[in-house]
Amino acid sequence: MNSRRNFLQKITFSAVALPFLTENVVAECNETKDKPYDGPPLRVAIMGLGGYGTRVAEAMQSCKRAKLTGVISGTPSKIKDWQAKYNIPDKNCYNYENFDNVKNNPDIDAVYVITPNALHKEQVIRVAKAGKHAICEKPMSVTAKDGREMVEACKKANVKLLVGYRMHFEPKTLEIIRMRKDGELGKILFFQGLCGFKIGDPTQWRLNRELAGGGAMMDIGIYAINGSRYMVGEEPVWVTAQETKTDPVKFKEGVDETIQFQFGFPSGAVASCLSTYNMNNLDRFFLNAEQGFAEMQPSTGYGPIQGRTNKGELMQPHVTHQTVQMDEMAAIILQGKKPIVPVDGEEAVKDLQIIDAIFEAVKSGKKVNL
Ligand code: NDP
Repeated sequence: MNSRRNFLQKITFSAVALPFLTENVVAECNETKDKPYDGPPLRVAIMGLGGYGTRVAEAMQSCKRAKLTGVISGTPSKIKDWQAKYNIPDKNCYNYENFDNVKNNPDIDAVYVITPNALHKEQVIRVAKAGKHAICEKPMSVTAKDGREMVEACKKANVKLLVGYRMHFEPKTLEIIRMRKDGELGKILFFQGLCGFKIGDPTQWRLNRELAGGGAMMDIGIYAINGSRYMVGEEPVWVTAQETKTDPVKFKEGVDETIQFQFGFPSGAVASCLSTYNMNNLDRFFLNAEQGFAEMQPSTGYGPIQGRTNKGELMQPHVTHQTVQMDEMAAIILQGKKPIVPVDGEEAVKDLQIIDAIFEAVKSGKKVNL
């Protein structure tokens, strides 16, 4: 098996190789074999028909195990458009006041919450109370305390809580994780995660603390945090962080523009990361280890993700992240499948604890132990 993987890393990408790669490697990486699925699909209602909700809905059209069957929105005109596009009946359409009624809707198994960050907590808890599984976008909430309450509410209601960590199903990412787990890189020493983009419209919710819970860290810095954990394969034990702000009008109090942060891990490995709303072309992971390295750029965008290791270029094919994510989440919810990297509420709480610690370290200027 290992020699086949080494071969796959080394071969030249070609039209001849593509069908072979697509069929075998994606299936292997995601452990969802490419055989026909004839069970019932996971029937999903999307809450929040904005930019990302639209992308998820389009990607779900190619899913084998998940199907869009409902919508929850505060904008009637969007509901109409989505009903026409996705053939959604009136009885599966809700707004933010009445969506508790999904409780009585046998056509909906799960609700995917894709609204501004600070709304996730209340919305997920209401979904759980309605007895439906919750899928929630990242960041799952805006503090670890809120995240724990969400986990508890879903446990109490006996429903699953999954978080939209699409990179946990991305083939090149999974190949680096496999190499690290199999010891091919040797002892992990250092991770660098650089995540950012230059944000536009100053009036958008992402720059409103009440709705975003912060700034770049909640939105894009979280990829470096989460990535450092799955690339290094450990949980950080300390955090240091420094903030810089060039535009205090656009980035008000509590809305971070740029934060550099560092982690220490139990093995002695360290990480150095950057989260920013003030630089474009910043989407890079680098993992250094005693016997090798891995680098990815782009590392967390919608793709194609590109990467190489000391063994050569990573040749796993591009997949539509949201299609694979939703098929895998359907398998987790309906068949109890265990993902290679967790995507549950507890996993999200770990990121939120680190975000809390980063904000504390920025404020105090001191090292914060986790
Ligand atoms: P958008 O602003 O494009 O859409 C958010 C939608 O939420 C709105 O269109 C609206 O839909 C609904 N909404 C409900 N209440 C409010 C409110 N008070 N203000 C604004 N919108 C509201 O945001 P995104 O889709 O980009 O982001 C939504 C979530 O998805 C965020 O948590 C974000 O972090 C996450 N995300 C994740 C990505 C990933 O790759 N995993 C990528 C992008 C975003 P309606 O009119 O239907 O009510």
